[in-house]
Amino acid sequence: MRFSGAFIPTKRDVPRDAVVISHQLMLRAGMMSQESAGIYTWLPFGLRALQRIEALICQEQERAGAVRLLMPTLQSAELWQESGRFDTYGPEMLRLQDRHQRDFVYGPTNEEMITALLRRYVSGAGAMPRMLYHVQWKFRDEARPRFGVMRCREFLMKDAYSFAQDEDEALQMYEAMFRCYIRSFARLGLYPLAVRAPTGPIGGDLSHEFHILAQTGESGLVYDKAYDKVYANVSDQRESRQGLILSDDAIERIRGVYAATDDMHDGGTCAVAEGDLNKARGIEVGHIFFFGTKYSRAMGLSVQGAGGTFYPQMGSYGIGLSRLVAAVIEANHDENGIIWPLSVAPFQVGLLNVRLGDSSCDDVAGSMYGMLEKAGISVLYDDRGLRAGVQFADMDLLGLPWQVIVGPKTAEKGQVELKWRRDGTRVTVGSEEAVKRILAGAGAVG
Ligand code: ATP
Ligand code: MG
Repeated sequence: MRFSGAFIPTKRDVPRDAVVISHQLMLRAGMMSQESAGIYTWLPFGLRALQRIEALICQEQERAGAVRLLMPTLQSAELWQESGRFDTYGPEMLRLQDRHQRDFVYGPTNEEMITALLRRYVSGAGAMPRMLYHVQWKFRDEARPRFGVMRCREFLMKDAYSFAQDEDEALQMYEAMFRCYIRSFARLGLYPLAVRAPTGPIGGDLSHEFHILAQTGESGLVYDKAYDKVYANVSDQRESRQGLILSDDAIERIRGVYAATDDMHDGGTCAVAEGDLNKARGIEVGHIFFFGTKYSRAMGLSVQGAGGTFYPQMGSYGIGLSRLVAAVIEANHDENGIIWPLSVAPFQVGLLNVRLGDSSCDDVAGSMYGMLEKAGISVLYDDRGLRAGVQFADMDLLGLPWQVIVGPKTAEKGQVELKWRRDGTRVTVGSEEAVKRILAGAGAVG
């Protein structure tokens, strides 16, 4: 894509109302724009990041056996009256009426709707186990929307729902999704803690939240210092376009690290000694719940099994996709801007032509652009003809993993400068060699 037509309105100044770094960088990089409190337009560059993250998360959901569908944003209030949550959910839920004065809600979550859906189709043996998911906009009328897309009112969520024959099968599905989450986040370049958590308005018996450590996080956490060790072993692998793929062993070790929100932590019963615990703040990026027959029973979803009629044991599994964009930036930036992991970068390469109009620069940049596109590598080509300094600053701000810099001295020799954004290392190489190195997808330039 050519920068001149891309509609990426970058800004030099830090917007005054943005206090967390991801919010500042998302505004400066022209990723999103506020429409009203907690409601945003996703501008093209931000939308590309959101879509990359969505695709990766969906790939891992399918790998874990979940099947995608799409439920609507508007839900009949009757569903929520059946479960009893119409009265208990509270003011976060947006309620509205159609022209016939029928009550609706703008879905803050989908337990009721998916239970009613299965009730319509499922009755006999072989109906369980089942894991379904969708990606849909949610609305929650948060009391204090803040930190940009981190806590907003309209946000994109991946939510999955599991249905099982008995508690054993349900807990196995919960475990499978637990491991899937650790694996998914690592591919995004995030190393979350899995935290025992209260179940809140979803309700239920068992629940874990996934938190990224960040000083600006809204939750207080207590966790075993062993966390640093388990991730130190895996996080220095070379980056690839797949992102970091954790081994089953590594997932198991991460899964075993003790962590809890500070209101769930009990020093008296905790098996980890006081001196081995750390305290920190975290951003919740995912949340999984096991709640047994709470919804299936209330809403009359019953199944005829070999041993008689039963109510399926259910779980639900959420990931805030729009919040993840901000979390990835919180964990991957420096003083010059964003540093996208290869696995979710909106473009793989930023191509800079520092002297537009110079014939050798235009030739080399043009042929690089063609070669990369042909190789299936996404490129943002800065053809705006702005000063070199402005191009450099903008490209660092946008944080694409690779930069290819075309300047008059090197272009004459058919060469380009290749820069790896994460550590700033550069090499001068022939343009075909540059494409080869980018295709190899590995980290450092050398
Ligand atoms: P929080 O505690 O942050 O308010 P929650 O526990 O109410 O979140 P869940 O019902 O667990 O949220 O939703 C699943 C995921 O959706 C969360 O882990 C989070 O990533 C995301 N999410 C929830 N609320 C918001 C919001 N207001 N803005 C952006 N993302 C959100
Ligand atoms: Mg939660």
